[in-house]
Amino acid sequence: MIACPAQYARRGNPARPAKAELHRHLDGSVRLSTIAALARRHRLDLGVRSERELAERARVLTPLAGFEEVIARFRITQKVLCGYEAIRRVAFENVEDAWRDGVKLAELRFAPAFIAAERASATTRSSRRCWTAWSRQRGAAASKWP
Ligand SMILES: [Zn+2]
Repeated sequence: MIACPAQYARRGNPARPAKAELHRHLDGSVRLSTIAALARRHRLDLGVRSERELAERARVLTPLAGFEEVIARFRITQKVLCGYEAIRRVAFENVEDAWRDGVKLAELRFAPAFIAAERASATTRSSRRCWTAWSRQRGAAASKWP
């Protein structure tokens, strides 16, 4: 959980009450531009041909048909959260976006096992490439691919 300290929640414009967001998903609140940038950087295949198609496949703007459809949206961000640097960037941008929206208190949640599951079960070349890049950054041997 990332929360702004209580003193920050009390400051600000009294005419504009502070908002609290008590259940913000890290992997459900990723900027489309960040998804595209991370996919390009790590040469990940997201199965889309344009940012417009990415927006259609990644965003949830209306109720979806069921749980599987919701999870399919998360699979896109699950792919790009492919290392410490990506997760750090997305966490920072989540807090920044919440702050810009007037949120003064936020619970930012994520499931490390869900994020890691992409790496553990991935057989795609792009996921392996991302894992290898991450391993190099961490100084670990790329041969430790699960
Ligand atoms: Zn939730």
